[in-house]
Amino acid sequence: MKIGFIGLGIMGKPMVRNLLKAGHEVVVYDVIQANIEQVVENGAIASKSSKAVAQECNLIITMLPNSPHVKTVVMGENGVLEGAKEGTILIDMSSIAPLASKEIEKACSEKGIRMIDAPVSGGEPKAIDGTMSIMVGGDKEVFEEVYDILMVMGGSAVHCGEIGAGNTTKLANQVIVALNIAAVSEAFMLAKKAGVDPRLVFDAIKGGLAGSTVMNAKAPMIMEGNFKPGFRIDLHIKDLNNALETGHGVGSPLPMTAIVMEMLQTLHADQCGQDDHSAIAKYYEKLTGTEIRSN
Ligand code: NAD
Repeated sequence: MKIGFIGLGIMGKPMVRNLLKAGHEVVVYDVIQANIEQVVENGAIASKSSKAVAQECNLIITMLPNSPHVKTVVMGENGVLEGAKEGTILIDMSSIAPLASKEIEKACSEKGIRMIDAPVSGGEPKAIDGTMSIMVGGDKEVFEEVYDILMVMGGSAVHCGEIGAGNTTKLANQVIVALNIAAVSEAFMLAKKAGVDPRLVFDAIKGGLAGSTVMNAKAPMIMEGNFKPGFRIDLHIKDLNNALETGHGVGSPLPMTAIVMEMLQTLHADQCGQDDHSAIAKYYEKLTGTEIRSN
């Protein structure tokens, strides 16, 4: 199948490579030419705009940073809606505000374009393996029609409800991940300051109730002081911002999210916005003047 793919960052590139490996033809676009070249090397076909991608493909996937980027790519000048034929399916796999998904879907449906929101969890390693968790909102028939394509990139794809439900699910995911990393960092610092090697704490507790996928993925990074992204602090700020706004809108206070948001904002102000979100540990390192990493 010929698939259009727009947004070739940390996640988009491996997702394109998995579609190519599965035998699909993939037409790609990104504002950064180097990112296009990196997947053209693997067999993708370069395009010159989002509109041009839409003119060539009946199925388009977007993997962009946030709501404004998706609005520009879909509804803006030289965007998808200028090029897409009626009946085209748009799968937005970016993590954006649920209300923005609704707004974009409305604009799409006015032109006969069918859109679902399908954000992912798992980060770069799972994007490379094709084992991401995909959470989907929108018309169930469209979900079923594209299910096999989603499963080329994911280990699971769950239909969560109407348009925006995928992104609401993703916000819940991001709240849990951020709070979990903060809890791991806080606890490891406690152990370090009290004289117990965090590496031994990790070995001792990872199989117990406190163990988690987040801990398994992030504890080794924290202990090595390796904060190469992965998932950037600035992207997590974006997600928690969307979570807080959504929470305020629906009457669901998020006190713990608000605290972790301020930790992220502190790190952003301290030039750590491009670090992996495991760098929440640095917040505690700055508080105590002690490094968690063990030798
Ligand atoms: P990224 O910043 O690495 O990539 C985004 C890409 O979009 C960039 O290559 C950028 O040039 C491109 N882009 C921006 N504006 C554009 C435009 N107008 N037209 C064309 N291309 C444009 O981000 P990422 O880490 O790949 O994340 C993408 C989405 O996936 C985000 O919503 C993020 O929250 C989500 N996500 C990321 C991870 C992760 O671990 N990195 C995990 C799960 C979900």
